[in-house]
Amino acid sequence: MTTIAFIGLGHMGLPMARNLLKAGHELKVFDLVQSAMQELAAEGAQAASSAEAAAKGAQVVISMLPASRHVEGLYLGDKGLLAALEPGTLVLECSTIAPEVARKVHQAAQARGIELLDAPVSGGTAGAAAGTLTFMIGGTATTLEKARPLFGLMGKNILHAGAAGAGQVAKVCNNQVLAVQMIATAEAMAMGVANGLDPSVLAEIMRQSSGGNWTLEKYNPWPGVMEAAPASKGYSGGFMAELMAKDLGLAQEAAQHSGSSTPMGALALQIYRLLLKQGKGKKDFSVVQQLFIE
Ligand code: NAD
Repeated sequence: MTTIAFIGLGHMGLPMARNLLKAGHELKVFDLVQSAMQELAAEGAQAASSAEAAAKGAQVVISMLPASRHVEGLYLGDKGLLAALEPGTLVLECSTIAPEVARKVHQAAQARGIELLDAPVSGGTAGAAAGTLTFMIGGTATTLEKARPLFGLMGKNILHAGAAGAGQVAKVCNNQVLAVQMIATAEAMAMGVANGLDPSVLAEIMRQSSGGNWTLEKYNPWPGVMEAAPASKGYSGGFMAELMAKDLGLAQEAAQHSGSSTPMGALALQIYRLLLKQGKGKKDFSVVQQLFIE
């Protein structure tokens, strides 16, 4: 049994933490939102009054926060968590953040003798609940092997992307593809339905044809096509459009850094910004469907 501090119990963090708890680990949890902590406390976790209190005495710290600034705020600086952790603590930073911020946090951890991995995930809230996430990991292979048993309780694919920050680079590449696929699927669904097709029939034909992709397999954006998808629940739950816009912004920064040409990613970012301007940033990212049917 390992004592684990889990910081950030949102759409993803809560089900991930629950899988560690179910496997018999001791969990000390912290989130700015009380209700999330209470939910896990009712299942046996210990709710803490701060991130530092959660991490006190923990062998492993896992964080799942929205964006770069939250991760910098948590770990860095004189009052940051890295300054309070015991050398030898293992930190698994699972949020999707800028690769250069991940590298900064890696360096600060290394300076204190703390082993850290950037380990962003793919697989959505369903993957988090089922324990079938894909982890894309940046850091040393030795640290990855130490963390592998814990990753294995939350995910099924544990992939080493490379050195510090590499997990984040892989993640923004992946999410750029996902956003483009979601937009392409949503516009095709709207076009097919507008031309008289039944949405479920069209979805199944494309799923089994060369247009097939992850959104058609698991996450159809048309309401009612997939009962469990956010589209069928008023676009609630899932992965917020504002987080997708953040990831597309990170992808554009990476492209800028390397001088890569990413016209599809750039367009996808503009489309998601439009959704944010329409006040739909808190909705699941499949809400992009509404741009094509309203
Ligand atoms: P979320 O907004 O639902 O959860 C984030 C949680 O962090 C919130 O509960 C918030 O209160 C908490 N928080 C923020 N600052 C904090 C602090 N300083 N201390 C403690 N708690 C703090 O977001 P999410 O959907 O769970 O996503 C988390 C990360 O995972 C993001 O980086 C996102 O891009 C990534 N991600 C999300 C999905 C998805 O499907 N939702 C999939 C893959 C990756």
